[in-house]
Amino acid sequence: MRIRLDSIGCRLNISEIEEMARHFAAAGHRIVGPGDAADLVVFNTCAVTHVAARKSRQVIRQLRRANPGAAVVVTGCYAELSPQEMAALDVDLVIGNTQKDRLPHLVADAGLLRDSDPVPAPDAASFLPNVSLAEGGSHTRAFVKVQDGCDNRCAFCIVTVARGAGRSRLLPDVLAEINRLAAQGYQEAVLSGVHLGSYGRDLGDAAGLRNLVQTILAETDLPRLRLSSLEPWDLADGFFELWQNPRLLPHLHLPLQSGCDETLRRMARRTSQAEFARLLADARAAIPDLSVTTDIIIGFPGETDAEFAESLAFTEAMEFSKLHIFRYSRREGTAAARMRGQIPSKVMQARSRQMHSLNARLEETFRQKFVGRTMPVLWESHEPYGFGEQWSGLTGNYLRVITQTSPNAQLRNRVLPAQLVDTVPAALVGQVTGVAGEMG
Ligand code: SF4
Repeated sequence: MRIRLDSIGCRLNISEIEEMARHFAAAGHRIVGPGDAADLVVFNTCAVTHVAARKSRQVIRQLRRANPGAAVVVTGCYAELSPQEMAALDVDLVIGNTQKDRLPHLVADAGLLRDSDPVPAPDAASFLPNVSLAEGGSHTRAFVKVQDGCDNRCAFCIVTVARGAGRSRLLPDVLAEINRLAAQGYQEAVLSGVHLGSYGRDLGDAAGLRNLVQTILAETDLPRLRLSSLEPWDLADGFFELWQNPRLLPHLHLPLQSGCDETLRRMARRTSQAEFARLLADARAAIPDLSVTTDIIIGFPGETDAEFAESLAFTEAMEFSKLHIFRYSRREGTAAARMRGQIPSKVMQARSRQMHSLNARLEETFRQKFVGRTMPVLWESHEPYGFGEQWSGLTGNYLRVITQTSPNAQLRNRVLPAQLVDTVPAALVGQVTGVAGEMG
């Protein structure tokens, strides 16, 4: 059976959809890309904002139109929070987050799998074929889900409602998956979770994430390990010593959400300007070339002009290498939805423009620091360029690098040093030497 899998939203959604793809492929199904006809479509939705929910609905309609004869299965946060809205979109099966781990079995039970072998249980799958959802070739980076759910109650967050209480994946399972990925040739794994920093607490291990990372580095050969989003209050003393191992990549995504203490208090975030600044100073002292990216919410209820100005100034002072900017989205079931002082959309637009303009400056400033350096790049994808190709990849500190080569340069899934010679919008320009087809 030809199966198309897709997702929007966070890295956790990507890791889940990739895991499903591996299970379907292990059962003998063919995973097809966007241009190919499918018999079954599985889509992992997002509902973190109104925009994400609208995009989820759009994509479902597009998938339905592009695959008129296919069964359509939807899952994810939107499916968990509003199953009736999903069902109204002419889909065949809606599976909430609580049952997502069993999705291949539920799809089979619903009679939507034809011409297939039985789907193996996750713990019985000793070999999951390498599946690329993006380019039809081998993947280079794998998102590995190690944790789900969250025990915090940030005032704006619907994800904590949609994903339930925090729970961690057992260490032997994580190790087995990473060893399998390494054996398949993956170069990098990104550990993902809704609240990754809480890893292990439900298993009685207060230093769970630290122990998890140490064990992965000691007991697997995967060349590169990256951590996805970490709440700033989760990082215990000594955490940054982990980066003495160069296989742990120098990139931290620490969601700040607002650079104003008063707004942070209303958001019920467990950090402050002073604590965050101290954390960044410690991290930068311990980790050379560190890239720190963050999330910022614009227009949280009650955010005055003065609060926004404070947030903007603090965000600039923290010298982030990239900002993910979200306009506040009122989600029923959250504390913030009941707050007074909802911000008009015109005000949000103006603040968003200012924050995006700051982001462009911060990104370029960070990129410029590395012009003239030679850094290892994991080359991921390419497209035709003139008579040759343009390749794109990522440094360990999450800088996008492009390079032009002759045809057939075969850079995919290789970690090769590039001399960084210039910047263009959104990337550095690199030169890779010693590779067949390299144009100099
Ligand atoms: S830490 Fe806060 S923002 Fe993150 S998932 Fe939990 S409640 Fe949501």
